Amino acid sequence: MSKLEADIVVVAGGACGLAAAIAAAQGGAGVVVFEKASTTGGTGNMGMGPLGIESRHTRAKQFRPTKDEAFEIFMDYTHWRADARLVRAYLNKSGDTIHWLEDLGVEFVEPASYFPTAYPTWHLIKPETGKPGPMASATMMKILTERAREMGVKIMLQTPVQKLIKKEGRITGVVAEDKSGESIEASAKAVIIATGGFGDNPQMIKKLTGYEFGKDLYSFRIPGLEGDGIRMAWEAGAARTEARMEMIFGMPDAMTVGPELYEACRQPHLMVNLLGERFMNEAIMPNTTFTGNAISLQKDRCGFLIFDENIKTQMEADFDFLSVVFPFVRIENFSQSIQNVLEKGYQHLFVADSLEELAGKTGIDSDGLKKTVREYNQSCEKGYDGLFNKKHQYLRPVRSPKFYAARHFPSAYGSVGGIKINHRTEVLDKNWGVIPGLYAGGNDACSIYGDSYVFILPGNTMGFALNTGRIAGENAAEYVKSVQ
Ligand SMILES: Cc1cc2nc3c(=O)[nH]c(=O)nc-3n(C[C@H](O)[C@H](O)[C@H](O)COP(=O)(O)OP(=O)(O)OC[C@H]3O[C@@H](n4cnc5c(N)ncnc54)[C@H](O)[C@@H]3O)c2cc1C
Repeated sequence: MSKLEADIVVVAGGACGLAAAIAAAQGGAGVVVFEKASTTGGTGNMGMGPLGIESRHTRAKQFRPTKDEAFEIFMDYTHWRADARLVRAYLNKSGDTIHWLEDLGVEFVEPASYFPTAYPTWHLIKPETGKPGPMASATMMKILTERAREMGVKIMLQTPVQKLIKKEGRITGVVAEDKSGESIEASAKAVIIATGGFGDNPQMIKKLTGYEFGKDLYSFRIPGLEGDGIRMAWEAGAARTEARMEMIFGMPDAMTVGPELYEACRQPHLMVNLLGERFMNEAIMPNTTFTGNAISLQKDRCGFLIFDENIKTQMEADFDFLSVVFPFVRIENFSQSIQNVLEKGYQHLFVADSLEELAGKTGIDSDGLKKTVREYNQSCEKGYDGLFNKKHQYLRPVRSPKFYAARHFPSAYGSVGGIKINHRTEVLDKNWGVIPGLYAGGNDACSIYGDSYVFILPGNTMGFALNTGRIAGENAAEYVKSVQ
């Protein structure tokens, strides 16, 4: 076993961990980051940008909400099922964190909203390639990694931390394992946990959230996110919080479907469950969390988007909804795209000459489907959806063969919650006392959403990760000055 010493050990070099390491180094601490993967960034490499409230970008555009408004929106949305002081600390810091990131070299374009009823809090990162989009945040992670190293932070890759060391009630270091399998005992005055949740651990997902990966959940699995930090904190006496999936929805295996067809199958057409019944106002579909929730409540946790040849032709001219992530305005070569995925043996897209045949292929109850289509078509003729009050502009009858169905399931960006922290990101024990020397942030400690991801303030999880990382780094750097 080899030994090393640091003021602060940061467990993981993802979004939260890198922000924590830099903030701690800026506070004068000697920092070592242990990262399990062969690169830094974690899920932080996947996205488009973090939330910022009252940044110079939103101020320049006079974009709402203000800090006070954001806090009220957040607490209203979560019905106060969240630590209000933690929410306030995070939101209040988030605008300044955008400026802090800019000082470190990260560039942003104009903030965006995720869907029409959400707020423009999403600070899209300008990547090296120029245009914002999926994985633009990898540029931010690269910049943060470079800056951290320049500040003297030691980053040890392929070195997962296995457990925390606790002496006389205080956290005094960690045990990690390097890529050759040798153990490293690292002594530290403080440890910050930021291992990104358990999105890559189906057993933990099942146990803590009830979803079964590959059966009723097709979520992102970022390799290595196995709940290590949560487990270690719990073993060291940390209190537990509710843990959930950061719910969205989608067709399984999006890569096979391809982004254009994927977006076409998320337009606000008729959605039914296995009984053939409607269960949501399809116009809310751009709020992917709400749609994931609605699908989760259906039989076998799935829903089918149904459309016909006329609607398909309309989508070749124009989409109703424009996604910021994949901004296609229409789908070209629709038939060919469908043909391509069917030839690959894709199991979640169906084509039929009649509704009976579609029901047979999908397993949807045939009588239920026919009844729903009949009623839905009447609503389309009237221009009024008496069931869910869907806007009449989206009411298009389903009557011209061929008929199509796209099967959707709950999905998730990852998990949120597990370790109980306070607004200073100190980890609390079961008596709500602070465990001296232990801090946590990011998804491992993100229990602020109540029962549903707060998508109306987009950029929220990366925002929480960066801001709690920064708060943890600053507070840990102060704390270590008082420890002998
Ligand atoms: C496709 C996609 C797009 C997204 N887009 C956005 C977006 O635009 N805006 C937004 O707000 N959020 C977005 N998110 C979510 C956001 O990226 C995450 O919530 C955020 O990165 C979480 O930060 P974190 O530091 O907690 O975890 P991560 O960034 O995932 O970092 C965790 C790190 O821990 C390491 N690790 C795990 N176990 C150990 C161990 N034992 N020892 C050492 N290291 C360990 C992992 O290797 C990883 O590097 C997106 C997510 C996905 C999947």
